[in-house]
Parts: sequence; structure tokens; C-alpha cells
Amino acid sequence: MTAGPTREFFDPARFISNPSTGRMGYALAAEAAARGGEVTLISGPTSIAAPAGVTMVRVATADEMFRATLNQAQGADLVLKAAAVADYRPEDRARSKVKKETLRRRARAAGAADRAITLRLVPTPDILEELGRRKKPHQVLVGFAAETDDLERNARRKLRRKNLDLVVANRIGVAGEGFEADTNRALVVRRSGRPVELPLMSKEEMARAILDLALPLLLARAGELPGGGRRAARGGG
Ligand code: C5P
Repeated sequence: MTAGPTREFFDPARFISNPSTGRMGYALAAEAAARGGEVTLISGPTSIAAPAGVTMVRVATADEMFRATLNQAQGADLVLKAAAVADYRPEDRARSKVKKETLRRRARAAGAADRAITLRLVPTPDILEELGRRKKPHQVLVGFAAETDDLERNARRKLRRKNLDLVVANRIGVAGEGFEADTNRALVVRRSGRPVELPLMSKEEMARAILDLALPLLLARAGELPGGGRRAARGGG
């Protein structure tokens, strides 16, 4: 599982990030561990305590999360990617804090009368897309989508593009949903079958609902493999 935001630094004191609290991912990790799963949670910076029985891997940047997740996912049956990964990072990361005077000098040199400076951003790797590319026959991949518009269509597109099994889509900018809220409401899009509406509920309840949708896929996948019954008995909950 991954959870929380990433931080994309341009010097040791400053970064670009987003308001993710990590609560949805931590709730999923706690619930999966409570059901007997062997859980590793790769977390961006959050203020939430580690859930009981979960192995924590703490990261800060999208690049660090990429490396940690690809490494951990090799041995995983179920991968849930609830982290709000930054899509872009500053191209350069200064070793020491960049002084305001330096920034002013840069603005002057660039001919900016209003002291404006330019921060060049470069794309971060898409972790989930890479996991989708490397997906093994027994693996189930669950992605999250935060959208302001066209929830179902965007979620479906993400499911196909990233080779996922489930996409949990939230609307952002709606009270009680997604970022910074204690509660959540979502539309879960699947490979086959109609989307499932999860009405407003706590993130802990939503974690149960998401695992209730993901685990049958995991068991079905395991059952299709030679000797899969044994794997299913071990991984099921
Ligand atoms: O395409 P979009 O970024 O909206 O997809 C969101 C999903 O992709 C989330 O599950 C998020 O954790 C994952 N993601 C990722 N790596 C990125 C960006 C998003 O794994 N660089």
C-alpha cells in the first residue's frame, strides 16, 4: 500500500506538495492487517501513527516512493495505491537554502521587473503505470483517482491506461470527500460489471468496503493459477 502526499523539494527548506493526510491509505493498511494480511505501507510524510502490525517504509519524494514501491510490489499479491503522488518536481534541488537575495538577483538577471522567478518542473515517474506494466498474473492492482469532473469516464480511462483491476474515484472540491476529510464517498470502477457507488462513510468503513471488492478478485486470480488454491487460502481474509 502507498499513502500520503509526496514532497518535491527545490531546496532543503522548500517543497511542492498537496493536502493529502494519508488517512485513506492508513485505514486500508490497518484493515488489511486486521484481516490477517502481511502489509507493507509505503508512506509519504503524514502525522498519523503507524497502524498495528504493519511494516512501514517512509519516503518523502515521488522518486523515493517509486523505488520503494517497485521493490516491495515484486512480492505482493495486492497493491493499493492511495498515495497522492506529485506529477511534477522541480528540475533542480539546491544543496543549501536559496537566499531571497539570490532569487532577487536571478529575477534581475532574467529582466523581470516584478521580481518574478521561474521554477522549471519536470515529470515524476508514474508508479502505478509502471506497476501495471510489470503486473504479474496473480497480482491485483487498485488505483485511486481524485477528479473534479467526469468521475466515471476518467476512472475508466485510468483503469485501462494503467492496467488496473479497480479504480476508487473521489470527487475533489466536495465537502466530506477526498482530501483532508474524515469521511469519503467514492465510485469504484471495475474491469467488468457496473461501477459500485460507495456512499458517504468514514475512511475506516470505506477501507472495509474497498477490501471487500478487492479480495474476491485476488482469490479468483489465485484460483486461476496452478496450485492457486493454496495461495488463496493463505492470502484470503
Ligand atoms: O493519473 P492519476 O495521477 O490521477 O492517477 C492517480 C493514481 O495513480 C493514484 O492511485 C496514485 O497513487 C497513482 N500515481 C502514481 N504515481 C504517480 C502519479 C499517480 O502511482 N506519479
